[in-house]
Amino acid sequence: MLQYRTVPVTPFQQNCSILWCDETREAAVLDPGGDVPRILAAIEELDVAPRLILLTHAHIDHAGGAGRLARELALPIVGPHEGDKFWIDGLVQQAAMFGFPQAEPFMPVRWLKDGDTVAVGRTTLAVRHCPGHTPGHVVFHNAEAKRAFVGDVLFAGSIGRTDFPGGDHQTLIDSIVQRLWPMGEDTVFVPGHGPESTFGDERRHNPYLRGT
Ligand SMILES: [Zn+2]
Ligand SMILES: [Zn+2]
Repeated sequence: MLQYRTVPVTPFQQNCSILWCDETREAAVLDPGGDVPRILAAIEELDVAPRLILLTHAHIDHAGGAGRLARELALPIVGPHEGDKFWIDGLVQQAAMFGFPQAEPFMPVRWLKDGDTVAVGRTTLAVRHCPGHTPGHVVFHNAEAKRAFVGDVLFAGSIGRTDFPGGDHQTLIDSIVQRLWPMGEDTVFVPGHGPESTFGDERRHNPYLRGT
């Protein structure tokens, strides 16, 4: 069964999540945006064995610590979708633009696409491509635990910004309706920022998603 702990990182309080399989204690670090020492301390405290880094998308607050963490722990970086390559290529400029410490450049060993799966120990994450906030944004779904890690696609009471290069409002709404809602009303999602919620609660109460 999939377990996880969320560690908020960076001045943007981005939810880095450590996911692990409770049978093997093999783990994935999802969206290590920064504050790498804090992530390393959580890994040690949880006593899990990190095997890979997962990225939902390549904004600096989600990906800024990926290069350093990959180097320090010799981990492969998996995801996001290739549509975010321009954000990875521009990581240095992103750090300057948002006043982040300098980020180590990296390149994923594997791009993800809709319908892919990623193993964490004996648990499996299903990959859905959810463009709109960024063109290459993906989310990770574990049906057994009824959990989804959705980055900046959807928040409790809000949705992702679409005013960055490559963003598009209607594309984001389509991603939410076509790819998140089918995961089920009782599925709990971990957003990139802020508290968890369920898809059912957002479908009923989120002001940006009325009538979906
Ligand atoms: Zn973002
Ligand atoms: Zn973010």
